Amino acid sequence: NKITIAIDGYSSTGKSTLAKQLAAALGYVYVDTGAMYRGITYFAMQHDWVSESHLNKSELITHLQNISLHFKFNSALGFAEMYVNGENVEKAIRTIEVSRLVSKVAEVSEVRAKLVEQQQQMGKEKGIVMDGRDIGTVVFPDAELKLFMTASAKTRAQRRFDELLEKGQRVTFEEVLQNVEERDYIDTHREDSPLVKADDAIEIDNSVMTKQEQFELVMKMVNE
Ligand code: C5P
Repeated sequence: NKITIAIDGYSSTGKSTLAKQLAAALGYVYVDTGAMYRGITYFAMQHDWVSESHLNKSELITHLQNISLHFKFNSALGFAEMYVNGENVEKAIRTIEVSRLVSKVAEVSEVRAKLVEQQQQMGKEKGIVMDGRDIGTVVFPDAELKLFMTASAKTRAQRRFDELLEKGQRVTFEEVLQNVEERDYIDTHREDSPLVKADDAIEIDNSVMTKQEQFELVMKMVNE
């Protein structure tokens, strides 16, 4: 019997790595909701509705209905890439610039309402692994399995830093650490759907766990 797996947690806790592995092993669909918030942010940056110093909330809200997001599975990569109005933005949304602004955009209630609705549509059929910040609390409060991932900020920043370096981006460890801490702060303090562990979520602190250990632990939970 297929189930819904909701994975929430702080920035760079390895949610998507684990979610991808689970989806592949179980034959489930994986949905990266962070990519959707990043997609909207990227679009808003291009139209100058958001920058370090400003957020033009009314313009963003007015044009929200014209922003269409969809995922398209790339079999060579083994996961679905994010498209905004037909443009493949998978690479563009992973930059530190988008990371710096995304939490500001994710605070806008209208943005959240739009994305939550789309996410609930995508999860109508069981057999889905979705990761984000509000999946177990808001998007799928009835998910059969909820995980809440944590790790020390330093561990997380180091992981994200290594990832960005691998992608050839020029950033310092300090910049990445600051970004991770800033996003955690905004995500846990926003008014609409703040990041919080669902009462029935299982917490996994993976500071000293390998990817394989996390995967095996959760597969055991799924099979129980
Ligand atoms: O998961 P990722 O780090 O790509 O998410 C980027 C940002 O999008 C988060 O820091 C958060 O501000 C926002 N987000 C959210 N709700 C989700 C997923 C992401 O607010 N379900």
